[in-house]
Amino acid sequence: MRKTPRFENRYIPFDGRSAGYHAALGTKASNAKEHHAAALIVVNDHGTAEKEDGLMDFSYTSQENSSEMPVIQLRREIVDALLNSGLGTPLLDLEQDIDRDLQPRSALLAGWTASLEINVSRPGIAVKNVVGVLEGLGPLAQETVVIGAHYDHLGYGGFGSLARNRKDKEGAIHHGADDNGSGTTALLELARRLGQRPNREGRRLVFIAFTGEESGLFGSAHYCKEPLFPLADTAAMINLDMVGRLRPDKESHKDKLIVYGTGSATSFDALLESVNKKYDFKFQKEPSGEGPSDQQTFYLKNVPVLFFFTGEHSDYHKPSDTVDKINMAGMARVADLVDDLITYLEAVPERPKFVKVPRKPGSGMRMRGPTLGIMPEYGAEGDGVLVSGVLEGRPAAKAGLKEGDRIVELAGKTVKNLEGYMALMAGHKGGDVFEIGILRDGKRLTLKVALE
Ligand SMILES: [Zn+2]
Repeated sequence: MRKTPRFENRYIPFDGRSAGYHAALGTKASNAKEHHAAALIVVNDHGTAEKEDGLMDFSYTSQENSSEMPVIQLRREIVDALLNSGLGTPLLDLEQDIDRDLQPRSALLAGWTASLEINVSRPGIAVKNVVGVLEGLGPLAQETVVIGAHYDHLGYGGFGSLARNRKDKEGAIHHGADDNGSGTTALLELARRLGQRPNREGRRLVFIAFTGEESGLFGSAHYCKEPLFPLADTAAMINLDMVGRLRPDKESHKDKLIVYGTGSATSFDALLESVNKKYDFKFQKEPSGEGPSDQQTFYLKNVPVLFFFTGEHSDYHKPSDTVDKINMAGMARVADLVDDLITYLEAVPERPKFVKVPRKPGSGMRMRGPTLGIMPEYGAEGDGVLVSGVLEGRPAAKAGLKEGDRIVELAGKTVKNLEGYMALMAGHKGGDVFEIGILRDGKRLTLKVALE
């Protein structure tokens, strides 16, 4: 059954905050798989089916079910027929019994077998990062400065949309003027300006319009895995994501610009202050390079980063993020500032010195409940969870987990994939201490982690 018992009951909910997690199709599918189910038949709960007993959208089910197990949905009237003849009870009665005492009503459906045949073709969607290169000149020419902005957004909505009503959420163009028309426009403008500079000397400039950011930093992850120019020789990365809503700070009345990564190189803070004399922005500085956009991927590979952002707003991830709300003059000011920074970074003889900033407690991956503080490799082949990054100061780092490790066991249970890992983690709370089994260089190791 979809969702959870008492899903609409605000007074005595099923499991408080984590109800959404238990309700997710992905959780149910990986749990069923964990219990050796051959397939899963899902039916709408009565609340969902109240107006219409509709089928789940494939754009949801295809993303949610990563268990490699067939999952199909039946309408309630068909399930009613199965239950009436098999158990002598209609579906609604079962649901209400469960809602009352929260006890499962698992039973064999006498007289029924199911054989399913499903044909799904999932060819995947080929997407590309778009990269432009301005070669360097002189003694620094082998080093690189990356300037990036993601060009993907949410299309017609669906996954990631924050539109309030369902129609907009699933079928309205999400323009993404600020997120990230603004950043990509600034990127093109910077490439245009720098490309026109005659006899430009210094480091190579690599302009990247990333794809797949909204689905989980896929584009930058791909670039960092297969960089066109070595990351070890990448002196800095500048990211522009949502720079179109520059507005004055309430107290100082100066234009407020959020900058992540100000502590990711020893020189960055002073550099920003000196360049800012001309612009007089009010900076909100986040020393760490960890933050919800593509610079994080570079930062976790020890590249100094700066990420510019003019702030959240009520149109964020909604169809109303439109171009008429963009502060064009403000965007030009941000581009001018970044132009000055690039001009400095391409030529400064000594490259910025990377600093791993100690983590602030309480920030981290957007997952319910306690986390280990790892960046999983999405879409990795093989069993378990491949770790593509370990966040400083968090339980995984403290336990000695390293990039490239594969988590295959958690508290005595086998970890098959990311879904399974998340399901197992959801069963733990802060303060729990348990062992995780990992594979490192082909060897099996056990580490003890303590959740915060
Ligand atoms: Zn964005």
